[in-house]
Amino acid sequence: MLYDLLSVWFPRCCYGCGMVLPKKLPWLCFRCAAQLPRSYTERNINNPLKDLLDNRLPTKAAYAPFYFQQQNPIQHLLHALKYLGKKQLGAWFAAQAATFLPKNHPIYSCDAIVTVPLHPKRERQRGYNQIDLFGKHWAAHLKVPYVHDFLVREKQTKTLVRMAQTARWEEVKDAFRLVGNKQYRHVLLVDDVITTGATLTACGQTLLAGGTKNLSVMAMAHTHQVLP
Ligand SMILES: [Zn+2]
Repeated sequence: MLYDLLSVWFPRCCYGCGMVLPKKLPWLCFRCAAQLPRSYTERNINNPLKDLLDNRLPTKAAYAPFYFQQQNPIQHLLHALKYLGKKQLGAWFAAQAATFLPKNHPIYSCDAIVTVPLHPKRERQRGYNQIDLFGKHWAAHLKVPYVHDFLVREKQTKTLVRMAQTARWEEVKDAFRLVGNKQYRHVLLVDDVITTGATLTACGQTLLAGGTKNLSVMAMAHTHQVLP
């Protein structure tokens, strides 16, 4: 009853098309949910994302449940998580991945989760790291430690998408360092959207150089063509 009254005053709308949502749908209407671009790579270990990253960053597995597309509900969901403070979407993305990923996937054998850190200044401005929100829920699902203070960002990097490839690598080089000397058998490095792969690769290389034996990579989405 109270919910019904509140939903008249504060109707929840679909993040894809703006239509008022029925009670049980938290983020998207059925039509927009059906438009989400699934990657369908959960059973394909040698997928294009892994192949691309492997040129510079050897991984056991690389996976994202969705492709990132402009003007698609996936863009609106990620925007809401990153800029509108819709923190519960981190749990939603983790739940989606849990539904898709088979339990024998190599990602399930990791013993720690580390996320790509924002620069502390940017995290203070936003009040949170959107990748943390996904990473924490995914770590809880895998029942492994979420290690948020192991990898730190020392340098606030510029936007990499419009840079030439060599400038991109130069920009992220030495941007990260490890704190302490923890040793992990298999770290899962988590990002939000993999677009260039450069930031993620710099993080992964830092982990491997610091003694991490195996590395896997996961994100909520990646662009169809990750820029090398
Ligand atoms: Zn919709």
